[in-house]
Amino acid sequence: MIDLKQSVTALPGIGDYYAHKLEHLGIHTIHDLLYHFPFRYEDYSNIIPIAEVKSSTQEKITVQGMIEQIFGQRTKTGKFFVLATISDTTGKLQALWWNQAYLLQTLHIGNRVNLSGKIGWFNHKPTLQSPEWEIIKLFHEEQLKQPTHTARLVPIYPETEGVGSKWLRAKIKWLLEHSQLEKTPLLLKKELPLSILRAQDLIELPKALHLIHFPPDLQKMQNARKRLAFDEMLKLQLEVVKRKRDWSQKSAPPLKQNPQALLEDLPFTLTSAQKRVGGEILNDLAKDTPMNRLLQGDVGCGKTVVAAIAMFTAYKTSYQSALMVPTEVLAQQHFETITGLLKTFNIPISLHTSSKTFTSLPISSLDRPSSILIGTHALLYKGVNFDKLGLVVIDEQHKFGVRQKGKLLEKTLTGLTPHVLTMTATPIPRSIALTLFGDQELSIIDEMPPGRLHVKTRVVPLHKCGAAYKWVEEQKMQVFVVFPLIDPSEHETMADVKAATVEYEKLQQYVFPKLNLGLLHGRLTSTEKEKVMQDFRTGRIDILVGTSVIEVGVDIPNASIIVVENAERFGLASLHQLRGRVGRRGQQGYCLLMTESQEPQVLKRLKAMERLNDGLKLAELDLLERGPGEVLGLKQHGFLDFKLANIMNLELIKRTRGVAEEMIK
Ligand code: ADP
Ligand code: MG
Repeated sequence: MIDLKQSVTALPGIGDYYAHKLEHLGIHTIHDLLYHFPFRYEDYSNIIPIAEVKSSTQEKITVQGMIEQIFGQRTKTGKFFVLATISDTTGKLQALWWNQAYLLQTLHIGNRVNLSGKIGWFNHKPTLQSPEWEIIKLFHEEQLKQPTHTARLVPIYPETEGVGSKWLRAKIKWLLEHSQLEKTPLLLKKELPLSILRAQDLIELPKALHLIHFPPDLQKMQNARKRLAFDEMLKLQLEVVKRKRDWSQKSAPPLKQNPQALLEDLPFTLTSAQKRVGGEILNDLAKDTPMNRLLQGDVGCGKTVVAAIAMFTAYKTSYQSALMVPTEVLAQQHFETITGLLKTFNIPISLHTSSKTFTSLPISSLDRPSSILIGTHALLYKGVNFDKLGLVVIDEQHKFGVRQKGKLLEKTLTGLTPHVLTMTATPIPRSIALTLFGDQELSIIDEMPPGRLHVKTRVVPLHKCGAAYKWVEEQKMQVFVVFPLIDPSEHETMADVKAATVEYEKLQQYVFPKLNLGLLHGRLTSTEKEKVMQDFRTGRIDILVGTSVIEVGVDIPNASIIVVENAERFGLASLHQLRGRVGRRGQQGYCLLMTESQEPQVLKRLKAMERLNDGLKLAELDLLERGPGEVLGLKQHGFLDFKLANIMNLELIKRTRGVAEEMIK
């Protein structure tokens, strides 16, 4: 039996040289090699007698015969070729290879061979052109075996320099024949019970591994893929279900106090979606197992007040809440919003960012920790005082790693686990909600506060750019101008700051010389940021130029126009976030998507923004085009390295979820 966890160098014929090359394919262990799946198959299964070879055919064929003659020669132009003649009982046929002189050492007169390939012409005769070849050893047990490289569906693998499909095929075949897979732990710890295989119409795993590499026909290949894709998704679901079960076995403080006093004090009535979701959350909070809930709602639907209600409930039950957000600007803003919403109740609320700590009630802050703590990552790392943490709220949760969330949970000193509410404006398709966030319950706010107008959106091509800016100036409204990051996958870099600064100066000097412009980017100190935001809020600044810092949740009620430069560089979900920054007081908002691109594909994508107002639909388009890793900022999560399963395959997700729940009781 072969231990699949060993390095590939444990296999015959693979030393450091090949091991190094295989690393380029992500293959380190024998297990990796076994799970290096073909991405297509060459169909050489059409075996015909030489007499029936038609020179006109474009099909791939296989002939089986004996080498009668073989020699190498150089053409007048210096190219080297090997020409062989093979015969079977029905006739003779030429085969030709270019630049493969080594064949003269490998193929000899008298060898029985299979040749697979296409027919062309050479020296006025029908000729197999560079066929795949395989020596068939007669009078040897090998003869009984299926061929590997010819006369069948032949697997074609992802290759790398010096490691071709033929080499991989031979190694994998050897491995399949020698590894006794029936007895070896594979992707899953053990084989699925027969009852599940039957119920799910799946073949056994060892069989699937044989068939995916060397299928006798396409149907069997599909069966193999189905089984292996099932395993991939099941493995993920087993983790999800286990995480969920572990969480449900923790204890939390029940937070049962009624928030009625706050509800009566709000300056507006909640939408029915807010009420419903609020009810779901209060219901969870009252339990002695911790909540783990994801609140999803389009930009501007009013998630903050729902979080405030939950935090108020914790406060009334004498527990602390922590609200963690991804940026300083947002922390500051949430601090102001929440202090405002709760002002009647004299609750000690504090703000914690890397550059400052601030408390709403200075006197109480001296001798005891606040009841509501709002901040960035600084909440985790600075000596922030928690004594009875009952609730953790994480806003724009996809901007945080799982680790950071875990760290916040460790902060509790009571031995109890706090309830957790995460919030996001990025719509989560159901498939993702059941996989990547599958351990969380999902609440959705699918309704906007009354009186909201859709932001009018226009794609502006380069030649209309001047006119567009002129129009912006004439409106006499408050305006955001946003520039993309140079490398959107990276955090804001110095180069981004420089680029934004240059554009800001250009805009101030040439485009809007009469208006007051401000610049906001991630490298400003928090005092500087606050000053800019404050100036914008009070109207001292007309136009705020920024990088995508503006994207996350910034709330300036008076801002009515947002101009996005190089709009094609943003995802649709991000653009939707951005335009959610304007028209927040109920006034008409405008969004101009500037682009220099003339590619029909790009313009079509952007035009969807003019048409669609539903963040969920836009995110779905985005997901189709760019995949969930990109859209949800999950690229580093490692969840998405499926080879066969499709993370969007809801059917498969539901089935594996069911099986995982059955397996983990
Ligand atoms: P988001 O869900 O994007 O975080 P916010 O919580 O920032 O949205 O809410 C957006 C705006 O809508 C805020 O100015 C908030 O005061 C207001 N708002 C929230 N709920 C309601 C409501 N039920 N009626 C009217 N306005 C509301
Ligand atoms: Mg928000």
